[in-house]
Amino acid sequence: MRELLRVGGDAVDLAAIDPRSTPGLPASAAEGGGGRKAWARGQVRLLGATLGRQQEMLYAAAQAAAGPGVPTGASPADDAAPGRGRPDRVLLVLQAMDCGGKDGTIRRVAGAMNPLGLHIRSFGRPTAQELRHDFLWRIRRALPPPGHVGVFNRSHYEDVLVARVESLVPEAVWRARYDEINAFERKLTDTGVALVKVMLHISYAEQGERLLARLTDPTKHWKYHPSDLDSRARWGDYQAAYAEALSRCGTDAAPWHVVPADRKWYRDWAVAHLLRETFDDLDLGYPPADFDVAAERRRLCGD
Ligand code: AMP
Ligand code: MG
Repeated sequence: MRELLRVGGDAVDLAAIDPRSTPGLPASAAEGGGGRKAWARGQVRLLGATLGRQQEMLYAAAQAAAGPGVPTGASPADDAAPGRGRPDRVLLVLQAMDCGGKDGTIRRVAGAMNPLGLHIRSFGRPTAQELRHDFLWRIRRALPPPGHVGVFNRSHYEDVLVARVESLVPEAVWRARYDEINAFERKLTDTGVALVKVMLHISYAEQGERLLARLTDPTKHWKYHPSDLDSRARWGDYQAAYAEALSRCGTDAAPWHVVPADRKWYRDWAVAHLLRETFDDLDLGYPPADFDVAAERRRLCGD
């Protein structure tokens, strides 16, 4: 799936990617009684169990590396020593237009993992304090500690998306950020962070339906903000900003993936796969005991 959904390098044409498409979904998915949706939902449950186990191994390995009595995450996240071998943490970066499904993806995919090993952070409008620092300051502070799976609900990419479309900073400033982001992410991947960058790609029509659902159902009003319609009015500008960010920052070290997201069941299935493939690369296993297991058994059982 990573190869299939990957974009970057060359110009990215989002209009050429159908948000209702289902790349990589096996043809056999339609054969079961419930159709493709039921199949994909079932697969996400199975994948979830695997992801949960893999996350536990990642956590256990970091725990073992830290030594006895030291909880993982006790040291600041950006302390990572450069030149570390294998990645010791995963960071899923989720970007999308409003109603793109970031929250649902987190609930369904990250929800399969142990909350103890998750590090989920959302980025909204910068606070006064955040604005006093460079745009990566709040991002660095939000990085997952070793052994954790981090999820960014929005990210530093807002600083080349909304910042560009809404002219929050001069063009020279946001233009310079592509290189800054690439250098920052390169450092992350060099210091043990396995990055998985995902844009959830929805259509204008689907966003309209989801916004209407938020306005229609009083239990969804909290998810709506009047400014959502102002962003929607600039859809084309946002798509152009996304295309350039994906193309400029879709690097070999940290590729971007576009997940067609009008169908929620496909979206969840695809993101779960991207994580699964990332974990698989890490060659995870449970750490061996650093004590004499047989002796401890004897002490416990008294024989
Ligand atoms: P939500 O994800 O619906 O809670 O909305 C968060 C809002 O914060 C969105 O409108 C984002 O565009 C906005 N936001 C996130 N990061 C930034 C940023 N760096 N600069 C300006 N606005 C941002
Ligand atoms: Mg919103």
